[in-house]
Amino acid sequence: MDKEIKQAIEYFYTKMEKGLIEDDKQQEVYEKAIDALNKQIPIKPRRFLRKIGLCKSYECLCGNCVFEYEQYCSYCGQRLDWNKEEK
Ligand SMILES: [Zn+2]
Repeated sequence: MDKEIKQAIEYFYTKMEKGLIEDDKQQEVYEKAIDALNKQIPIKPRRFLRKIGLCKSYECLCGNCVFEYEQYCSYCGQRLDWNKEEK
């Protein structure tokens, strides 16, 4: 899954590098696509914030608060990686 996403990102980057962009509009679309794809790759939250009841809250890369049960940040849409988080 992650590999396919990385390949898709690569695809858009290659097109841009080769100057295969027709205009600013297309450039913008490509950048948005890359941005959206990057958010599909799980990233660990920046740091632990606090425990609220049974829930642990963390700081997302965007600076907002995310909870341990959330798969995606509800603010920036970043997919979150909880796998190797220390308990
Ligand atoms: Zn976020």
